[in-house]
Amino acid sequence: NVREAGGNNIASLSSKSHKALNRKSLIEKRLLLALDQKNLEVLYQPQLDLNSGEIIAVEALVRWEDEEIGVVPPDELIPIAEETGLINDIGSFVIEEACKQAALWNERGVNLKISINLSVREFRDKNMAKSILNTLSQTNCPASLIQIEITEKFALEAEAESYIIKQMRLLENEGITFVLDDFGTGYASFRYMQLLPIEILKIDQMFIHSLMMSEKTQRLIKGMVQFAKSMNITVLAEGVETEEQLQLLKEFECDIIQGFLISKPVNAKEIKKLINNQK
Ligand code: C2E
Ligand code: MG
Ligand code: MG
Ligand code: MG
Repeated sequence: NVREAGGNNIASLSSKSHKALNRKSLIEKRLLLALDQKNLEVLYQPQLDLNSGEIIAVEALVRWEDEEIGVVPPDELIPIAEETGLINDIGSFVIEEACKQAALWNERGVNLKISINLSVREFRDKNMAKSILNTLSQTNCPASLIQIEITEKFALEAEAESYIIKQMRLLENEGITFVLDDFGTGYASFRYMQLLPIEILKIDQMFIHSLMMSEKTQRLIKGMVQFAKSMNITVLAEGVETEEQLQLLKEFECDIIQGFLISKPVNAKEIKKLINNQK
């Protein structure tokens, strides 16, 4: 742990990194308990199809509020969970919740896909694909209702570990869709579009947020949309907050948008309300 903290010996640790270490081990300890008691929650954020004007999918986003620590946001929680291996348990929890929810909506005639964020670490488990397929059948959830969001970091590492790609292909054959999340921020390589079964490209919100400020960004986004189209890949813009952004994205012929303009992440009941209001 000393090496992780960046020091050469304990004595060199500043009080600030001591605090960070303490918080990390507290989070780890409490998270273990929370997972055991299923004390986490999944919120859903709608994705609006610009062609039909309908909400066609939702992204599942994990939420955790601990009695002792308070709210631990995903940007803090996920990296710690990845480091400690608890990400696999978070993943199992979110996958099960999402599959149950998708199956329930499906039963009630609500046609919504659910998009789940998964880390590369989860796919290092050679039984990952099998266990996802198991959850699908146990929850009676059609595979076609589930999307998996991976990042460019995932893509980079998957390339070197062929069994990860094998598992992706297996899931794809069963009808699961893969989404490349946070596109353009990491190790973007067009090679991944060739290598991996990506059907949706999600332009990172960083670009969308500077959309109105910079003409360069506008050209960049327009180019990304055109690139995706030419590859027969659906384009989604995330982090859409304003009507102006929406208008430009429509002009660029972006397919799907997600962001606070439509709704922040909410619980399943609220999603049902949004869908009903839409009709
Ligand atoms: P992400 O997958 O890129 O998810 C989008 C994030 O942007 C979410 O933050 C969402 O609440 C936020 N967001 C959505 N629309 C807007 C908007 O219009 N404006 C702004 N400013 N933000 C918006 P969240 O829920 O805090 O999640 C952060 C990241 O944590 C996610 O980024 C994802 O990488 C990770 N994450 C969240 N839930 C899970 C999970 O269940 N498993 C894994 N492995 N990662 C997760
Ligand atoms: Mg995502
Ligand atoms: Mg994203
Ligand atoms: Mg992100």
